[in-house]
Amino acid sequence: MTTATMPHADLTELIDAVNPGDLYRSAIEETADSIAPVIAQNKAYQDARVFERMLIPDRVIRFRVEWVDDSGQVRVNTGWRVEHSNLIGPYKGGLRFHPSVTEDTLQFLAYEQCFKNALTGLPIGGGKGGSDFDPKGKSDHEVMRFCQSFMRELARHIGPDIDVPAGDIGVGGREVGYLYGQWVKMTKRPVGVLTGKPVGSGGLPGRSEATGYGTVAFAREMLGDGGDSLEGKRVMISGAGNVALYAAERARQLGATVVSLSDSGGTIISEGGLGDEQVQELIDYKENQRGRLKDWSGSGVAFHAGETPWGKTDASVVLPCATQHELDAEGANKVLERGAKVVAEGANMPCTHRARDLLIGGGVRFGPGKAANAGGVACSGFEMHQNATHASWTKKDTLSKLDDLMKDIHELARKHATDADGVPNYGVGADRAGFVKLADAMVSMGV
Ligand code: NDP
Repeated sequence: MTTATMPHADLTELIDAVNPGDLYRSAIEETADSIAPVIAQNKAYQDARVFERMLIPDRVIRFRVEWVDDSGQVRVNTGWRVEHSNLIGPYKGGLRFHPSVTEDTLQFLAYEQCFKNALTGLPIGGGKGGSDFDPKGKSDHEVMRFCQSFMRELARHIGPDIDVPAGDIGVGGREVGYLYGQWVKMTKRPVGVLTGKPVGSGGLPGRSEATGYGTVAFAREMLGDGGDSLEGKRVMISGAGNVALYAAERARQLGATVVSLSDSGGTIISEGGLGDEQVQELIDYKENQRGRLKDWSGSGVAFHAGETPWGKTDASVVLPCATQHELDAEGANKVLERGAKVVAEGANMPCTHRARDLLIGGGVRFGPGKAANAGGVACSGFEMHQNATHASWTKKDTLSKLDDLMKDIHELARKHATDADGVPNYGVGADRAGFVKLADAMVSMGV
């Protein structure tokens, strides 16, 4: 028997041969379970060994980033760019600056990104990059010097038709602005080589909101598919960064009650729900003042140091929007006990494989990150379009196209989903829909 027919033993052998790190292995195993039956029924996929080829990135670029801190000391970090696949279009995916970043983190993110980008229907391939640099506690000047040094090396690998990075954890408007500024100085080309740029430098109005708003739209669509709506629902959100804060804003706009946010220092719980003014205050506090939740006091809000939100209060909608594997089996059991009916992943792979199985087994409508948080990269695709055509989009244009696109992604994932007791498995649906697009492109382009 060849690996092509994909019985589970051979699949494990194939994955072992790639020797992925723990996170990458987890991401591969999740998709492998979903797509094995699709490959088993398609001889062209088997002959072209599509899955095997998909597991190894086109290339991984690793480089040294040297910079000088405010005290005049030389500092050194490692930078990476994983260019996973350009089958569908230029490599596209964010940059993450966080001390936990390793090649394994970026390989899993780049792999997931390929499926996600395929689901958007836009001509964008998959990549991811970043560094173990920690922007937290650094001055603006230190962040600027780091970004300039990072771009000095990255610039030789990227381009508007080749590889278009964006932000991710630790890389927001400030960092993208410095990176882009360095690119323009080096190349004399003020073109769309990065997305998530400040609006005044070619950025897309509405891009900041896109991932969080899109995640809420996906949750709304999953609820709608079950004949329900977001109105009046208690929504538990983890994280207090770009994705989490705009998810909170959008959930409020749609009449839901936002009961939590968190950062790596702990969780805030608001039993009665955060008010609109509190959400706006938090957006400013986090985005502009770079404050910590432990130092923020809002009326009716309790801070739980060092804890996650899971199980701290009732919530039927759960949006994990911080980081990978933040919701494990214990967390899944807790949210199930407190009434979870819908989970939409705003972060990338925030639920462990076991947590995801428990949630789905518990009857939850589960929106995997590659579908539920695809609004961010989709709007990055719109930003590329805006830049390439020298157009000026409005926030209204962006948000209305985003909403339509999230409906389409939900429909696509729903169409390919398997059903258990009337609850669609969107995880399987998203994996299969993304995989078929990638596999067809691979087969059509030959070996
Ligand atoms: P931000 O850096 O803006 O925010 C990240 C938030 O998560 C912060 O509140 C941070 O807390 C918290 N966090 C990060 N790491 C940990 C950790 N190990 N434990 C607990 N809390 C943690 O990032 P984004 O909001 O942009 O990204 C969040 C997630 O969404 C990531 O998985 C990212 O890949 C994904 N995503 C982002 C997109 C985007 O457009 N920005 C698009 C699609 C997916 P603290 O500040 O204390 O570190």
